[in-house]
This record gives sequence, C-alpha cells and structure tokens, in this order.
Amino acid sequence: MKQTNARCWSEAQKYLVGGVNSPVRSFRGVGGRPFFVRRGQGPYLWDVEGKRYVDYVGSWGALILGHRPPSVIAAAQKALQRGTIFGTPTPDETELAKEISCAIPSIEQVRFVSSGTEAVMSAVRLARAVTGRTKIVKFDGGYHGHSDALLSKAGSGLATLGLPASAGVPKAVARDTLTVGYNDLSAVRKLFAREGRKIACLLVEPAGANIGVLSPEPGFLKGLRAITRKYGALLIFDEVITGFRLSYGGAQRLYGVKPDLTTLGKIIGGGFPAAAYGGPRKFMKQVAPLGPVYQAGTLSGHPVAMAAGLATLKALRKPGLYAQLEKNAQTLKKGLEKISREAGVAVTVCRAGSLLTLFFIKGSVRDAAGARRADAKKYARYFQAMLTQGIYLPPSAYEAWFVSAAHGKKEIEMTLNAHKKALQGIR
Ligand SMILES: *Cc1c(COP(=O)(O)O)cnc(C)c1O
Repeated sequence: MKQTNARCWSEAQKYLVGGVNSPVRSFRGVGGRPFFVRRGQGPYLWDVEGKRYVDYVGSWGALILGHRPPSVIAAAQKALQRGTIFGTPTPDETELAKEISCAIPSIEQVRFVSSGTEAVMSAVRLARAVTGRTKIVKFDGGYHGHSDALLSKAGSGLATLGLPASAGVPKAVARDTLTVGYNDLSAVRKLFAREGRKIACLLVEPAGANIGVLSPEPGFLKGLRAITRKYGALLIFDEVITGFRLSYGGAQRLYGVKPDLTTLGKIIGGGFPAAAYGGPRKFMKQVAPLGPVYQAGTLSGHPVAMAAGLATLKALRKPGLYAQLEKNAQTLKKGLEKISREAGVAVTVCRAGSLLTLFFIKGSVRDAAGARRADAKKYARYFQAMLTQGIYLPPSAYEAWFVSAAHGKKEIEMTLNAHKKALQGIR
C-alpha cells in the first residue's frame, strides 16, 4: 500500500504516544496532523506523498547548514566506516572540544553529553556543587530541557499545550526553581536581594528562542552578569540554540558578556545527538573523574556525532556566512512586516540573527507574558495557510523560525509570496 501522510499518522498513533516522540511535532498547537518526511535537501523537505516544503524548523535549529550539507554527510559516513561507538576515547572528541573552546570566549574545557537536556541538567548540578547552594533562577518562557527542576514556566512546548508546568515533578524539586520575567532586571535584582545567598545559579537563554524569539534589551545580560557576581551565584548561558547560531562564538561573543558556564547542543552535533557543557577549568575540574560532581554517558562523545559536528563547525567558518544569514533573516523580517502592514494585519516580527518569530500582536514583545498575548489561534490558521503553499513554519505560535545558510533569495521570495496569500485567507 502506498504511504500517505494520513496512513502514517494513524499507524503512528497506535504505537507512539500521541504519534510522536516530542510533543510539539504533533501539531496540537496548530491543528491538523503532521506530515511524514521522506527526505531533505538544502532548505527543503519532501513528505511521503512527494510534496515539497521550504523548511523553517531545521530540526529545531540543529541544521544551520540546511539538509544534507555534503561535507557533513561525508564526514559522518567516513566515521561510520570505522565503526559506531567504542566506549573509549577517540581523537575527534578532543578536536571538537578544542574547536569549541577556541570559539566560545568563556569555555576552556567541555564535557560532551547526548542532549541539551542533559547538558543543562549537568551544568546546574555543577553550579550547585561549586556554590554549595540549592536554588536556581530561570526566566518565564525559558526552555532548558525537560529535567525536573527546569520545567517551571518552560516555554513553547508547555505553552503550546496550555500547561503551566509538568505533572510528575515533586513539589520539593519545583520549590527550588525561582522564575522571573525576561528583560526585567529590576525583578531579578529584587529576587537576589531576597534570596541571593541561597541561589546557586541563574540560567538564561541569552536570546530567548523558546517562547518565540525574545531579544535581550541593552544592558540586560550585563546586568545579569553584575547581579550574579555580586551574590556569588553562577551565570549559566543556555546556548543550546544560540551557540554557533548568533555568531561563531555564540550569543556571548555577539553581546560581549561572559557567563560562568555555557551549555551547547543542536548545531554542535551536526544533525546527530550531541550536546555539551563547558566553562573555565576551575569549575570544570569539579566534574568526575577529576572532581566530586558525577556525570557520565554511554553514548557521550559519539564518534559519528563528533565527526558531523566538526564538519559543521568547519563549514560555519566560511567567511561571510553569518553576515549572509543576518542579511537573509533581515530581508525576511522586513518583507513580512511590509506585506502585513499593507494587508492591514497587526504583526510584530522579533528577530535575533537568523532566529525570528512572527507574532500576531500590535506593538512589541519583550517577555513571555507579551508573547502569550499574541493571537495563537490566528497563528494556527496562518500556519495551515502557509503549509498548504509548501512553507513549513514551526507548528506552534511560540517557537522560533530558523533561517539556515541553505535558504536563499528564492526561498525567501517564495515565503513572502505565500505570506501575502496566507494573510488574505485568514482574516
Ligand atoms: C532544545 C533546547 C534544550 C534541550 O535540548 P534537547 O537536545 O532537546 O534535550 C535546552 N535548552 C535550549 C535553549 C533548547 O532550545
């Protein structure tokens, strides 16, 4: 029997929870059902029925070079020829760690893990060990993986499903996580004045990308740096999305603020499962086997992921690549705004580098509360209208669109034409 999206979907729902392996993929936030992918190439995806889509999800930011970049595929294939996993060190782990520590200003040493969730969870453990404190601070709308302590007000996935927090998290664990509004430095100051000496770390996506895109206002990140230093808490930049995305040195190089610890993921695995946490030696030496903070992983530093990650970073060093990304994303933003204005539809496009979100809202969005005020129902109609025209946007009003280096003038033009038509259809 020929594969169709409908058939794949009904089979999937029989054997997979909700038909998916990660909630947002289910299209619950936008209605309808997901399409099933046969293959990808450059900025495009093809579903099992042969329909083509311009892909603005890029596996949630991992695929900054688009699908199947030749050098990455070749490196992964070469690694695979040597075997899959050995449970013993391989030279590529050191090579990738070296590349990362040269690129990211605050990192001297890294530890590889397999997912962003693990990276952040481990960085928090390290921060608690270093400070001897328990409480952690995160921002409303910040997503830092699905570990127990970090699911309070955790952005897109939960927001899409209308969940305030996850069931199954012990109250005792949730109690140690304090949340404040993004870009609200005075709230952070007040919180630290009250609890500062109990706070192990402040965790922030330096540019928010999980409740739509939130740009840090001037002075916000520097303010966080000063406050955490004053109270002896560690500042952790969760750069799982922004690392090697906003610049080769991540958000910290772009904004000129050095955190104590950094978490990376998505891009550094080159489309395979790899993530990392890192920082100065004085902190990292607390991690086993050198120190008392235990953290391990059977698949950590996976040879195929290391090879693909290295090839990805090498490709990202191409001169002008980030400038081109910036330019394309800016063209897209300007176009979306102009067409919307002409159509009389109120939108705000928030952008940080090649990350952007179109909110159906009048006026600017600076925090999660603002993002939640945007019209998610209208976004759902818009999403469907775009999908019909072969433009695959994130299936949630609260996710970033990811522009990749494979997106060119042609794809942006296609997107803007589709946008114009979509707006006519959804009013
Ligand atoms: C995706 C993401 C994570 C979690 O990474 P996984 O690999 O999905 O576990 C953590 N932090 C941020 C900022 C993310 O975007």
